[in-house]
Amino acid sequence: MLLSLTTTHRPATDLGFLLHKHPAKIQTFALSFGQAYVFYPEADLERCTAALALDIDPVGLVRDRQGPSGENRALEQYVNDRPYVASSFLSVAIAEVYGSALNGRCAARPELADARLPLDAELSALPCRGGETVLRRLFEPLGYSLEAERLPLDKQFPEWGNSRYYRVRLSATVRLQDLLAHLYVLTPVLDDDKHYWVGDAEIDKLLRHGDDWLAAHPERDLIARRYLKHQKSLARRALERLLAEDGDEATAAIGPDAGGEPALELPLRLNEQRLATVAGVLREHGARRVADLGCGEGKLLGMLLKYPEFERLLGVDVSLRALERARDRLNLERLPERQRARIELLHGSLIYRDERLTGCDAATAIEVVEHLDPPRLAAFERVLFETLQPPLVVLTTPNADYNVRFPHLPADRFRHPDHRFEWTRAEFAGWARNIADRFGYAAAFRSVGEVDPEHGPPTQMAVFTRPLPIELAAEPSEPAP
Ligand code: SAH
Repeated sequence: MLLSLTTTHRPATDLGFLLHKHPAKIQTFALSFGQAYVFYPEADLERCTAALALDIDPVGLVRDRQGPSGENRALEQYVNDRPYVASSFLSVAIAEVYGSALNGRCAARPELADARLPLDAELSALPCRGGETVLRRLFEPLGYSLEAERLPLDKQFPEWGNSRYYRVRLSATVRLQDLLAHLYVLTPVLDDDKHYWVGDAEIDKLLRHGDDWLAAHPERDLIARRYLKHQKSLARRALERLLAEDGDEATAAIGPDAGGEPALELPLRLNEQRLATVAGVLREHGARRVADLGCGEGKLLGMLLKYPEFERLLGVDVSLRALERARDRLNLERLPERQRARIELLHGSLIYRDERLTGCDAATAIEVVEHLDPPRLAAFERVLFETLQPPLVVLTTPNADYNVRFPHLPADRFRHPDHRFEWTRAEFAGWARNIADRFGYAAAFRSVGEVDPEHGPPTQMAVFTRPLPIELAAEPSEPAP
């Protein structure tokens, strides 16, 4: 069983940093079911491949199995496909051997772990229950292009027909941690089996590694069902936790995974473009004290922190889980004191007034309004534009006109299951003009992402300014002589 990961990112040998495995060495890892080896068949600046080979010991597996000895030792337990194919053993090996990469950690080069890189994953033999159709239905909505070659039962006897195994190559520009998480979850789903007992802990694993993408995946029910070995009550609980609303009042506005970027937007690299556009607008307007409302995992804050002109950065979110992740991502505990003093994360809801936010000269709400149902949206409008009244507000939201460009998005679904609505360009412009009129702002519009001539950009942005330029608004007026 072989999993090869290849990148053409320059320098391609960065893959070694990301995997925490030196390209010049062959490394061996002892796992409970056999040995894993990592080696690099090629490693130069243009192209680098890391191979993970599993040597599963089927006899050892049977010997170590709990239960009365001698019971059930049918031949099948010794002679089976497990040593040769990708299965739940591969998931365990990914977690053990590539654990840091799977969890998005790269001590030597943290920026690499966050970067989307051109990556290929090749699996020498992947059992696919449901064949190529299911294989495509699982990977393509995540943005992969896929080559699949069905393997014969025996090359020497083509008349025996085909096996249920495929040689598969997946390609995408993704973060390595996302690719590994997709393989971790979807390999046993395709195999439709697991080598170990599945209980509650398995729900946690599914939600942890399915975070950010599973909720929006069109096949999430099938994935949960198969991942949890068709135990209906486990699958039901997993889906409930994935989609259900959290208990407390404030959090009830959002689903637990509301902070995740919709999986179907990933191939457009929209998030990065959004953040870069927002940072650009803030800098053009000379903003210095910025409140990021609904900051999620703190991606925008992380970007703004790099520019010294932002003196004060506040991130607010109602989800404690998102704030925890923001704290980790931004490395707050380890920031030098001066940097640390520039940034603060606040737990709060955008639909209530919040004294802690006064004095900001700009507020951003990036992909947030579509998570608020109408009464909450109305409350948010007043809190932001009437009470807080920052001189600059930058707000983005999906453009519903563009949704026809997502082939896997059914016409009656939103990009993310937690979205309460998605506005067309006309609806957004109408809403923004109404806000500007009611609260004394000027509204201008920008596009984010590649603009479709007919359907517009994937993300739409409104920039609200109060007529006074920021420099004047921020200066206390001179006392009259
Ligand atoms: N701005 C971030 C996250 C967008 S997802 C980004 O672009 O990556 C929407 C975020 O809004 C989630 O993190 C969610 O927890 C937060 N949110 C939704 N309703 C909220 C409310 N009423 N108060 C505060 N935050 C809210």
